[in-house]
Order: sequence, then structure tokens, then C-alpha cells
Amino acid sequence: MQSRCLEWVERPGVALVTEQRVAGATPRLVRMGEAAETAVEVADQLIFRRPRPIKGFHVWSSFCGSVDVPTDRVPGTAPPDPKRVRRCHGDEKTKRTYAFDRNVTAMDCNRCDEEAIMHAAYSGAHLCSDHFRESVEKRVRRRIRRDDLVPHDATPQNPQIWVIGLSGGKDSVVLTQILYETFAEDPRIELVGLTIHEGIDGYRDKSVDACVELSDELGIRHELVSYEEEFGVRMDDVVEDDPENMAACAYCGVFRRDLLSNYATELDADLLLTGHNLDDEAQTALMNVLEGDVEQIAKHFDASLGPLSAREDQDEFVPRAKPLRDVPEKEVALYAHVNDLPAHITECPHASEAYRGEIQQLLYGLEENHPGTRHSILSGYEELAEIAAERYAGDDGADLQECLECGSTTTRDVCRKCSLLESLT
Ligand code: SF4
Ligand SMILES: [Zn+2]
Ligand SMILES: [Zn+2]
Repeated sequence: MQSRCLEWVERPGVALVTEQRVAGATPRLVRMGEAAETAVEVADQLIFRRPRPIKGFHVWSSFCGSVDVPTDRVPGTAPPDPKRVRRCHGDEKTKRTYAFDRNVTAMDCNRCDEEAIMHAAYSGAHLCSDHFRESVEKRVRRRIRRDDLVPHDATPQNPQIWVIGLSGGKDSVVLTQILYETFAEDPRIELVGLTIHEGIDGYRDKSVDACVELSDELGIRHELVSYEEEFGVRMDDVVEDDPENMAACAYCGVFRRDLLSNYATELDADLLLTGHNLDDEAQTALMNVLEGDVEQIAKHFDASLGPLSAREDQDEFVPRAKPLRDVPEKEVALYAHVNDLPAHITECPHASEAYRGEIQQLLYGLEENHPGTRHSILSGYEELAEIAAERYAGDDGADLQECLECGSTTTRDVCRKCSLLESLT
């Protein structure tokens, strides 16, 4: 039963509740709100609905990793004492000890005497909230250094403008927060948050609020642009019309890329940063490998993956970077939670990347049985991408030109965005 947990865990907003020590008990999938406490409440309700006393529940959630909710009371009596609700790490040993002894002893942090709030199977680390925070921030800063994102000639007089694609979801909010903490005192870097409103009812409005709240709190410049203002379309209507018979994300991705790169240019950006996490990048890596498109892998290196100093110059495009890509999705969610960041976590109702979904499921299974798989996929892929980029250097084969309609850089007469907009009118 435990072996299936991770499949569910990784989806934000969903917790999997399993009854402890009940052979063959069916895991129950529970939709939950935006806080770890909600998982506890949900488990509590389930406990009280049981016809007989049980020892407790094990709750997995994408917000808190996992939580053990013990109960030794007769159902229907007082709610659980919050002090007895402990976070644990879901490993077999902890669960077994707990179940046999009814002794709620949480594991300690590997680096101090505090109680651990997470366990990373790929490294074996148990970390308390302070050390967990430190470890996430360290990985992001190390990536910034390794990717040479701060050029040697950046000066306070000539600061670098870093535009962050800020969607209001956990990834971009965490990235913005860590970049702010890293560079708030550094006059060589100026941060700007750029939010795109796709026109999706009940989804984007709240996450735009999260972006505004975060930017206000940090005191960074924030720009909001919408498909409606820029292109005269809303994604809700695009999905309805669907003139090209494509998935929603196929339209949306083209529009988003266009806006991000145009605004990055308009804002005079030196770098465009996005909050892709380890899961996202390992999925993309695996998809590119499975599609067998080596040229695409080479392009990936020059567009966003390679250290800035090692990429082939791409004068037409603002370079991209993904400094959060060493941090697994679940840890990004946990970081947002422990820092109480205003991340908005709901799934887009039009989410439709079917192939990515398959790869995601495949990776959950692999990671569960072979912890560290995502890391090894990405590091091997980065090395291969560098070799591919060298192989294709100066040989991009594509004649870049200006789109006849909008002037953006494209390989055809009319860019993909303009042809999609044409079909939508
Ligand atoms: S899930 Fe797809 S349709 Fe929804 S915002 Fe993302 S790219 Fe657009
Ligand atoms: Zn600690
Ligand atoms: Zn165009």
C-alpha cells in the first residue's frame, strides 16, 4: 500500500490517507485545502467516522510530506491533542515503530537536535525546518554559481535586470523569494516579477493576487500582462473554439513564450528566470530523449540549461535560466509551506499535457523504487546536452527572420503565435 502513496502525493492539493496497520486497507484519496493542517483535519474526520478505535492514520500530502495522526481514543471523543500530531517521514522503519509501540517519536534532524519535518529518500537526509530551508537555498545558490548567472562585469552602476516569470504558483513564488533573499543587498542585480494572465476563470485571478502580495511584500517591481490585452483572446474562449483541434496547453504555451520573451526584451532584461523544479526538468529531459530529437537537446542547452558562459550566443533571445531545477517539486511545496509564502495552489482546469502526464507517472514510480533517479536523469542529460550543443554549434540550420505580422524572431514567414491568432479570428 505504501508503495503507491507517492503517486498521489506529488499532486498539489491532494492527500492520500491510509489507515495504519490495517492489512489491505484501501488508501483514500482526499482533496484538501492549502495547508498541512487541513490534512490533519481530514484524517481526524475519517478517524471519527470509523466504527471502531484504530491506532492512527498516515497522511501523505504534497504540502507537508507526511504526517502521522495518532489516536488511542474511542471515536467520537475529544479531537486529537495537537501535541500528539507529529510529522514523520513515511519510511518503513518509522511507521513500524510507531504502529507497534504507539510511541509517537519523530526522527531528529541529521544536523541538529530539532525534530525533522522531512525525509529525502534520495539523500537519506532528515531535516528540521531551519536546515531544510537552508538546504533548499544552498542548492539554488549553488546552481546560480554553476550556471554563471551573475556575470563578472555586472556592477552597481550597470545592474543586471533579471525578469522572473512569476505565475503565483509555488515554484515561481519560491524562486522569487530565494532570489530576493540572495540579492536584496546586491546592487548588481535588479529583480522584476512578470505575471501573465491567460484568461482562465477561477484560476488565474487568485494567483495574480499572490504575485501582487509577494511583490509588495518584497518591494520588487511587478508587471502584469494578459492574453486579452495583448492578443485579444482569453484561454477559456480559445479552448471553446479550438480551431486547430489541439490541446489547450499547445495554444497557451505558444502565447506564453511569446509574451515572456517580448516583455523580457521590453524590460531590457539580461536574464529571464523561470521556476522549473527538478521534476519538471527531469520530465522534459526524458521526453526529449524518448523523442530522439538530439538537435532539440542541443537547443535546450543553449536556451536555458548550460552555464551562461558556455552557451552559444543567441542575440535574438534573452537568455533563460532555471535555478530551482535541483529542488524536487515536493520540497518546493514544503518550502512554500514552512515559509508561509503566498503561493496559490490550484490546477489549471485546462491542463492537458497528456504525454508529460505519462512521463510524470513513470518518474514517480522510478523515483519511488530507485530514489535519486530524477537527479541522475538530469545530470546525465545536462552532460549529453553539452556534447550535443558542441556537435550542432554554428549549425542551427534554421534561417531566423522577422515575422511578417508582428516582427518577432521566427523560422517562418509568419510566426506560430500569429498563425494561431489568425485561426482564432
Ligand atoms: S495548464 Fe496549459 S492551459 Fe493551463 S495555464 Fe498551463 S499551459 Fe495554459
Ligand atoms: Zn536541524
Ligand atoms: Zn508573429
